[in-house]
Order: sequence, then C-alpha cells, then structure tokens
Amino acid sequence: MDEYQLIIWKNKILKEDPDTEFDKKKPFSVCHSKCGDIVKIKEPYNSTHFCDHSKNCTKESRKRRPAAGMPSLASSAGRKGDCQYQ
Ligand SMILES: [Zn+2]
Repeated sequence: MDEYQLIIWKNKILKEDPDTEFDKKKPFSVCHSKCGDIVKIKEPYNSTHFCDHSKNCTKESRKRRPAAGMPSLASSAGRKGDCQYQ
C-alpha cells in the first residue's frame, strides 16, 4: 500500500467528513459519521464514491431508507450513526 497516496486520500475524505473513522485493517471501507454507513471505496485512493455518498446522504434520505444492507447487522437497535466495522 502506498502510504503517501493513502494520506492524501484520507485528507480528501476528512475534508468531506471530518468525523470519519478509518479502519486500519480495511482503509477503503470508510464510515460516514453522519449515518454510520460503511462506504466501500471501489477504487483505491479514489474519494469520489465517498463524496457522492456524502452529498446524497441527507436527513431526508436517511429517514426514507429502510434499515437494509447486511441483514444480520441491520437490527434497528444501536444504530444511530455509530461506526460499526465488522
Ligand atoms: Zn451517509
């Protein structure tokens, strides 16, 4: 992994979401702090996907969206924006 590229990329993500937490084991699965969703980055060092999510992730969209995703994790309890890496 290219540490330098990674730092640049992380800075881009942090500009978009300053409260993001990175998983050391899976740096390209980024948790969006506002909704607690894990955004999987499709291309390494590409922040576009996360920025798109951030733009589309509004109070409205969070309300409308059913608790879908990973069925085992999608229980309604304890899901209030906490980052839940597996
Ligand atoms: Zn989000």
